[in-house]
Amino acid sequence: SLSLRGLQKSFGGRRVLKAIDLQVKAGEFVAVIGRSGCGKSTLLRLVAGLETADTGNIDFNPHAQAITCASCVNSVPNSRPDTRVMFQDSRLLPWKSVLDNVSLGLKQGSDAAKRALAQVDLAERADEWPSVLSGGQRQRVALARALVHEPALLLLDEPLGALDALTRIEMQNLIESLWQQRGFTALLVTHDVQEAIALADRVILIEDGQITLDEQVSLPRPRARGNPAFAALEEKI
Ligand code: ATP
Ligand code: MG
Repeated sequence: SLSLRGLQKSFGGRRVLKAIDLQVKAGEFVAVIGRSGCGKSTLLRLVAGLETADTGNIDFNPHAQAITCASCVNSVPNSRPDTRVMFQDSRLLPWKSVLDNVSLGLKQGSDAAKRALAQVDLAERADEWPSVLSGGQRQRVALARALVHEPALLLLDEPLGALDALTRIEMQNLIESLWQQRGFTALLVTHDVQEAIALADRVILIEDGQITLDEQVSLPRPRARGNPAFAALEEKI
């Protein structure tokens, strides 16, 4: 489980996070919402170990195997080896093929990377350059690259923020089904309350540097498919 206690973070005298306390159970999916600039990405970066808190504790006890490489994916630094981060932009290395991007940092990468690509439905694009893929496909590669390491904790910072509505719902379904198969713990930052409700067990709101709301989502799964926009998508495919 993930446990945050009394987390504080300031930048140049501005207190961004004042006192964040949060307990996340292993396998739980928590969405973090809040206004632009409220500190959502900062919180994720602290949990990822990409930023250091001024005070407070972060404990994460994974219930999954630790993975091997911490330093090889230079565009997506990982300070915690059992944690992977996915951002709004895919941050794929443009000079490497799709498969090589997913294999980065794996000791014997290619088979696992191919399986990961198949899970995001991109097996047949393995030998292409990232630049020829659509934005949504690049995010699927980024998801494969994160999950190929079997992280115990997946941190998602608006991973679908740049996608059109239908692609976003498709991706929500993919993330939900992979989460159900794999059982990793997930922390998702999103501007989109619908998305938070579609994916998360629990939604927290950050305001004024603190968690001001922490609500369990009581809707049954799967949720993204119940979204009216998905009906339009299903007609097209
Ligand atoms: P958005 O929804 O727009 O992504 P956010 O909630 O993710 O916003 P953060 O990126 O966490 O917000 O930023 C919170 C505040 O901290 C902002 O005022 C930002 O300017 C400041 N901040 C974040 N990182 C740094 C940094 N490295 N140096 C200085 N200030 C920073
Ligand atoms: Mg942000």
